[in-house]
Amino acid sequence: MFRHFYFSIKDHTADMDISIVVPVYNEEESLHPLMEWINRVLSSDQKTFEVVFIDDGSSDTSWQVIEELKEKYSGKVTAIKFRRNYGKSAALDVGFEAAQGDVVITMDADMQDSPDEVPALYDMVMNEGYDMVSGWKKKRHDPISKTIPSKLFNAVARKASGIQLHDFNCGLKAYKNEVVKDVNVYGDMHRWIPVLAKWQGYANIGEKVVEHRAREFGVSKFGAKRLISGFLDLLSIFFVGKFNKQPMHFFGTWGIIFLAVGFLTLIYLTVSKLIFEVSGINDRPLFFFGILVLIIGTQLFLTGFLAELVINNRSKERSYNISKRI
Ligand code: UDP
Ligand code: MG
Repeated sequence: MFRHFYFSIKDHTADMDISIVVPVYNEEESLHPLMEWINRVLSSDQKTFEVVFIDDGSSDTSWQVIEELKEKYSGKVTAIKFRRNYGKSAALDVGFEAAQGDVVITMDADMQDSPDEVPALYDMVMNEGYDMVSGWKKKRHDPISKTIPSKLFNAVARKASGIQLHDFNCGLKAYKNEVVKDVNVYGDMHRWIPVLAKWQGYANIGEKVVEHRAREFGVSKFGAKRLISGFLDLLSIFFVGKFNKQPMHFFGTWGIIFLAVGFLTLIYLTVSKLIFEVSGINDRPLFFFGILVLIIGTQLFLTGFLAELVINNRSKERSYNISKRI
């Protein structure tokens, strides 16, 4: 009995098929209908499930509603409340930690994602061998200010990550339990979880066209700022993915190029002055160019060294994701 209990914690499966992780930030009107819908679909599909609500510091009555749901659907609701708003990534991270089901499915609280998709997603992960399956909102019900940038981001992300998904940021995704335990969703990285999963060695990433609905209640929580942070995160992903192991390879290469150009320029000027006695060297644009490039080159080198030092110091605690030992 005790052994089983211990084992079930370590091995995550508390004999549960599905965990649905729902980040909630001021979504009071949606929660009742959402839970009802999920319950209807999964009960008729005869799956054991839990819905993990993470209240991300809502200032409306979302948490009271979640407490009502906990009461009404006993055993099917797990809920966590943040003291303040940390953002969707943090909510997902904590939800992932709590999720017990064999398959973990993330879903937005605003009912833009349809619970009807859950059984098929479950099937793809359990029976078709996918580590994760991302939804693809092929037909979107969002303003154009959202859909156009999103197309661009996805194209760049495909190139940078080598993962052929159309819709990285889709809220509706399904994972093997071990995948969500292994990814560390920080900052605003929820947009790029497929990339994080791939970094952990989960390469079997699938895609499923899902129904997307217009928001019925409440308002979108992400404004124009998402463009900037999304773009910066994309840069870090690209950069970290490419140069995480050897920053000096990147900084050093550019450092050498800049230093070489700077040196050659200044040597040319020095020779002109000393040997050919050209005057007015220090008024020439080339003089300033040479100095500037030399300084930039030095800085690139130093940045490379610092980055290598940081990584070196951390490497003792760096954990590699080992899937088996015998
Ligand atoms: N969300 C959250 N914390 C935040 C912002 C959003 O938990 O700081 C949740 C929100 O309640 C919703 C999901 O993340 O369940 C997606 O948010 P939203 O619908 O506003 O994004 P959009 O669909 O407009 O991209
Ligand atoms: Mg939404």
